[in-house]
Amino acid sequence: MSEETLTIKPYLKAPAGGDPYLEGQKCSACGAISLKKRMACASCGARDTVAPVKLANTGKLHSFSIIHRAFPGIEVPFVSAIADLDGGGTIKTNLVGIEPDPDKITLGMDVTVDFQTAPRKDAEGNEYLTFVLKPAA
Ligand SMILES: [Zn+2]
Repeated sequence: MSEETLTIKPYLKAPAGGDPYLEGQKCSACGAISLKKRMACASCGARDTVAPVKLANTGKLHSFSIIHRAFPGIEVPFVSAIADLDGGGTIKTNLVGIEPDPDKITLGMDVTVDFQTAPRKDAEGNEYLTFVLKPAA
């Protein structure tokens, strides 16, 4: 099997035989990190200054919301969260491993990125890799 692992987002990389990681696009002019590939830096507008960087799997919880309504088949409530990764980059995904209770979740708490096979397959029946946030141990 030399097939590349499918992932939920283009910036989630799953190298064959290696650990998955998130890849950001870092501007060498201003240091801004974006998850999307662009022609020019979204922050300072410089061109041809953006290069891929491997992002950290650790960060801090920036904001969250507890979702009580979702598409049929999706368990609620769950926590949708935004985290600032150590060293730069901001990701949005679900926060798991914690009660969906605003009293239990603290802004700024340490979180880690965890990679896992998505619970649902895509339209073609392929498994794909996704990522979630967990409270840091
Ligand atoms: Zn820039």
